[in-house]
Amino acid sequence: MRQLIAGNWKMHCLASEAVALAQGVAAGAQGIAAELLVCPTALHVAAVAQALAGTSIAVGGQDCHQARQGAHTGDISGPMLRDAGATWVILGHSERRQNHDETDELIREKTLAAVEAGLTPIVCVGETGDQRAGGQETEVVGWQLAGSLPKPFSGVVAYEPVWAIGTGKTATDADVATMHGFIREELVRQFGDAGRTIRILYGGSVRPANAAALLAIPEVGGALVGGASLNAQDFVAIARAAQAG
Ligand code: PEP
Repeated sequence: MRQLIAGNWKMHCLASEAVALAQGVAAGAQGIAAELLVCPTALHVAAVAQALAGTSIAVGGQDCHQARQGAHTGDISGPMLRDAGATWVILGHSERRQNHDETDELIREKTLAAVEAGLTPIVCVGETGDQRAGGQETEVVGWQLAGSLPKPFSGVVAYEPVWAIGTGKTATDADVATMHGFIREELVRQFGDAGRTIRILYGGSVRPANAAALLAIPEVGGALVGGASLNAQDFVAIARAAQAG
């Protein structure tokens, strides 16, 4: 399976900086075998999509509402993202789960809405540090997968241990292998054979220095990259470490 390297730019960059970052990624991306995706803030999706027109780099949102339209002040719908040029959307990121009290059920509804709008969802799951310390990581991730993914599911799952996001700590290769193996089993249990083809990204302090090792682990279908995606050279270096499939 071709690996996907996705950059989550979070609430970073003014419009001109986002366009420059996208152009920097495009300039370095020649010959990269992996699929590339950048996810700027929704406000900059259109400008970044325009800057990347004619390249193979896709653009995604970082969230969308579960409704197509309506009285939802400050929210953004899947059709709006699609209209602006996005083809992907990140859903259920731990920062959304924590800062906006997003539940598995809400994420499942958003996932359905995203697919209906023509977006490919990346649904994030992952345990907190306390949950891992308590030995609950598989239980928590199992519940998140069961609750957040609609049936059928056409998208990507990102395993992002919350304690590894933006901290410089990464899960050990053995822990990543265990969790990705567990997620694969759960996907097959939930979706049968279709569960074998769902890509499972790893996210959590992926950097050029650790990317090759993480991306070589069985069942790792790519990376969701936060901090390092804000530097075009680092993001491209991570993408160069990916497997062609
Ligand atoms: C993320 O926010 O999805 C992420 C993985 O961030 P970082 O790479 O900075 O840990």
